[in-house]
Amino acid sequence: MSDIRRPASGDWRLVSVDGAKRLKEKMKRIVVLGAGESGTGAAVLAKQKGFDVFVSDLSAIKSSYKAMLEEHQISWEEKQHTETLILNADEVIKSPGIPDKAPLMKKIVAQGIPVISEIEFAGRYTDAKMICITGSNGKTTTTTLIYHILKNAGLDVGLAGNIGNSLALQVALEPHAYYVIELSSFQLDHMFEFKADIAVLLNITPDHLDRYDYEFQNYVDAKFRITQNQTERDAFIYWEQDPVIQKEMAKRKIQSAIYPFALEKSEKTKAFLTEEKLIIDTLKTIFVMPTSELALQGIHNTYNSMAAGLTAAVLDVKKEVIRQSLLDFQGVEHRLEYVATVRNVKFVNDSKATNVNSCWYALQSMKTPVVLILGGTDKGNDYSEIEELVRDKVRALVFLGVDNKPLHTYFDGKKEMIADALSMEEAVDKAYRFASEGDTVLLSPCCASFDLFENYEDRGRQFKQCVRAL
Ligand code: ADP
Repeated sequence: MSDIRRPASGDWRLVSVDGAKRLKEKMKRIVVLGAGESGTGAAVLAKQKGFDVFVSDLSAIKSSYKAMLEEHQISWEEKQHTETLILNADEVIKSPGIPDKAPLMKKIVAQGIPVISEIEFAGRYTDAKMICITGSNGKTTTTTLIYHILKNAGLDVGLAGNIGNSLALQVALEPHAYYVIELSSFQLDHMFEFKADIAVLLNITPDHLDRYDYEFQNYVDAKFRITQNQTERDAFIYWEQDPVIQKEMAKRKIQSAIYPFALEKSEKTKAFLTEEKLIIDTLKTIFVMPTSELALQGIHNTYNSMAAGLTAAVLDVKKEVIRQSLLDFQGVEHRLEYVATVRNVKFVNDSKATNVNSCWYALQSMKTPVVLILGGTDKGNDYSEIEELVRDKVRALVFLGVDNKPLHTYFDGKKEMIADALSMEEAVDKAYRFASEGDTVLLSPCCASFDLFENYEDRGRQFKQCVRAL
């Protein structure tokens, strides 16, 4: 058997099994752009498979990744892209962080060099079952929850994609029988032959539009690539009531067996709620669990539990294991993470809420009045989505960002108590002063963090530190 998986026809990349072998002989040079987790993993796998590999990163490469490249005798460069060493590639593996519009990418495409993602590349070298999760919000939570259930079920499973070690590195060094993979639209953009055995699409709301020519449909199409190449033997799990997904389902021909989930049952729904109970009703499983027992609370998390429970049911995981796992899941850092209660004011870290929709869910799940800390790098946000919740649930707003103008333009006059902050310390301090006993101070920023922080993890960690120092 060839070690190159899923050959097909049509595209020059998509060749028969014999063709794949020929391609491997012919295709000597693989250039990996971006030496982060995915790029370094892809380089190690490519090297292991006998390609001539070159890694190029426009930024400085982390020392741990440099060490890994050295260990595998892979040539690399940092803080530059030497075009003569790149444009002679037979195939390019691109980090999801590099936009297609980058000048180098345009040159690569103009030369007709195929550009794929690390997941596409790694998928060629494994026959493992692929469980892939995408959506605008809830990916990490659901991916981690599915991984938790499958681990508890005793399966040989790896966690990959945007979390954990890259898929390519695991395929190269510690192969598993199952992979649970969190996929962003950027990874999906460069996937062609890869097939998810189980595809999960949680929701679609506008995000990252700057990378999609401000065309929402382009982003929607990217998300739907999660179903490409699926056959009737594969499963597609999705949120049935999402208006965008609904519209797409009406116009697309999906080959896979479908497993829709929703709050209310309709004809095809396979996971839903009845009288405060989560029901999973597939041909093989009928599973019932009171929602009060779910470890993850809030409607958004009920959806995530439904998607995870359905995945487990499709994989024939025992009901007791599903129940126990949905009950004892610890949650994921920076997602509605309880931090502390200081003089009866509760602090919740939702730093990962980098768009308006996830802040909506966070606010919606709050049971007390809220002092909301939001702001950062605004990706063209429309705050009307949270206006009603802000009116009903929010006592005061603290804008934490270098440029708070868009926030002031939207919210000034709508709330009496608004303050600006230029550091986390200042934000926590002002929020705490605004709060009354019994309130919750919620960091759910609607924005990216790069104006003041390294990333959302740094922002969340600083928040926790400042709260603990109160
Ligand atoms: P992602 O990996 O897609 O960014 P996360 O699981 O990290 O998603 O959650 C990010 C934020 O999105 C969380 O802070 C939470 O408030 C919100 N969220 C989680 N699940 C959902 C969901 N199913 N629908 C909408 N929002 C969600």
